[in-house]
Amino acid sequence: VHREEVDLNLAVRQVLSLLAYHMRTHHIVVEERLKPNLPLTTADATAIKQVVLNLLNNAQQALASWHGERRILISTDSEWRDGQEWLILRISDTGPGIAPEHLPLIFEPFFTTKPVGEGTGLGLSICYGIVTQYHGHIHVHSVVGSGASFTVELPVQVCLE
Ligand code: ADP
Ligand code: MG
Repeated sequence: VHREEVDLNLAVRQVLSLLAYHMRTHHIVVEERLKPNLPLTTADATAIKQVVLNLLNNAQQALASWHGERRILISTDSEWRDGQEWLILRISDTGPGIAPEHLPLIFEPFFTTKPVGEGTGLGLSICYGIVTQYHGHIHVHSVVGSGASFTVELPVQVCLE
């Protein structure tokens, strides 16, 4: 797998600037809580940006037709666990959330609840593939009617393959 030094905060900012216009026109408020001086990780910056983009696209699509509050919170952090440091990216939205019976399916390729032409069902399976390639984890927490929250954890110290 390709590796270079990746600044997660920079990746997040670059993707957000790409989506800023779209968010504004859909009246979605994006709140950034990026931890300063985050450690760098070694990964493929393009792949990490793909993960951020897919998660933000889903949040934006969930909110675009939502009549309640339209807010996305994106945060970064780092923490020590199990003897190593992890980068933590969380993207939460205030949209409709995900039905409990769908939760075990959403990371499967081609699972989608969107109309034909609007969703391929590939976004989250691509996220899952990228994150696990870098020995990380991705999981979701959702309460129907109050939103979905995706957490990505990436190891800072990477074992050499
Ligand atoms: P697609 O977006 O093309 O449908 P994804 O793999 O990105 O495919 O997502 C799969 C499914 O997971 C979506 O169709 C939707 O049902 C659900 N989902 C993903 N993110 C969210 C979210 N933020 N809010 C509500 N549902 C979501
Ligand atoms: Mg998607």
